[in-house]
Amino acid sequence: MVDLNGQYEAIKEQVNASFTTILETSAFINGPEVHSFQKELEDYLGVKHVIPCANGTDALQIAMMGLGLQPGDEVITADFTFAATVEVIALLQLTPVLVDVLPDTFNIDPAAIERAITSKTKAIVPVHLFGQCANMDVILEIAEKHNLFVIEDNAQAIGATYTSKNGEKQKAGAIGHVAATSFFPSKNLGAYGDGGAIFTNDDKLAHTLRGIVNHGMYERYHHDVVGVNSRLDSLQAAVLRAKLPLLNEYNAKRRDSARKYNAAFENIAGILIPVTVNNCVGICDTCDCHVFHQYTLKITNGKRDALVKHLAEKGIPCGVYYPIPLHKQKAYVDDRYNDADFPVTNQLVKEVISLPMHTELDEEQINFITETIIGFVTA
Ligand SMILES: *Cc1c(COP(=O)(O)O)cnc(C)c1O
Repeated sequence: MVDLNGQYEAIKEQVNASFTTILETSAFINGPEVHSFQKELEDYLGVKHVIPCANGTDALQIAMMGLGLQPGDEVITADFTFAATVEVIALLQLTPVLVDVLPDTFNIDPAAIERAITSKTKAIVPVHLFGQCANMDVILEIAEKHNLFVIEDNAQAIGATYTSKNGEKQKAGAIGHVAATSFFPSKNLGAYGDGGAIFTNDDKLAHTLRGIVNHGMYERYHHDVVGVNSRLDSLQAAVLRAKLPLLNEYNAKRRDSARKYNAAFENIAGILIPVTVNNCVGICDTCDCHVFHQYTLKITNGKRDALVKHLAEKGIPCGVYYPIPLHKQKAYVDDRYNDADFPVTNQLVKEVISLPMHTELDEEQINFITETIIGFVTA
């Protein structure tokens, strides 16, 4: 599914040199690499504050802590996402409110958000799933109308650009009140271990967050709020610094592979290709409207599970993200949910399949993958 070795070959000298310096200076935690990476990422995203932390799950949790959300506050998020999003809501004793997604983009359905709002709703967490932003124009309108925070889960869409209906372009993660991202190795900007970051344009919130990541300390050994210990280490920051200047190139390669996949799969009965929206047409050349963290097809003729088996036999990796709706996961079942309110997610879990997608895919691999899939689905 991913090939991280090719990327390493290209940045080997820089990474190895940085690692040597870090090892020789023992600046493992909060070293200069972390600070430089923070600044460079702020510039890249066009966001005022980046607060590095230990992983994407922590980033989501710390964002919610920083906003002062309290037990019992309701937080609306998507039924079709990785569990980390809902996990931190539950851990903080906030009330997760799962809602359905849209069948074309797999992203949270703004109309379902509106229906789920109560007097206890405090925040919306849109997940920019598979590399494409949720409909932020409408989500921001809803949030403003109901006085809600918008926390972007940007773990899968770093580098993506969102074009608002007024034509304004912003980087994913720089749009809501606060955003969380992950530098897990397989993410579009991946470290060689765990890492994450929180983004915000709000000076006061940024200050609060910087304390929370460091045991609630704003002055050494003065603990003003309950915090956590969540740090990006210098070795990971060095890797991320080497990769950040290449992120646009990485994402362009992913889009290029997605175009080739699309060209092969469009007009094949039983296969639906991923849809790119948000005021862009197709996979455009001019902006990073979709950064294809995953390239995900829908197999609409009931052959998805058989296809997964067939690909395994042919030695082609694939993934089903995600096989079970969150509202049906044991940890998150709740009387408040009515299964009939999740028709899209319930259908998607039966149809989706994600194909190999990384920066080292070549034409021959793509041809083998597309021919194998088309041969099986249309047989
Ligand atoms: C990867 C991911 C996370 C969690 O990131 P970690 O760094 O693994 O903790 C959260 N949300 C989504 C949507 C993700 O894909």
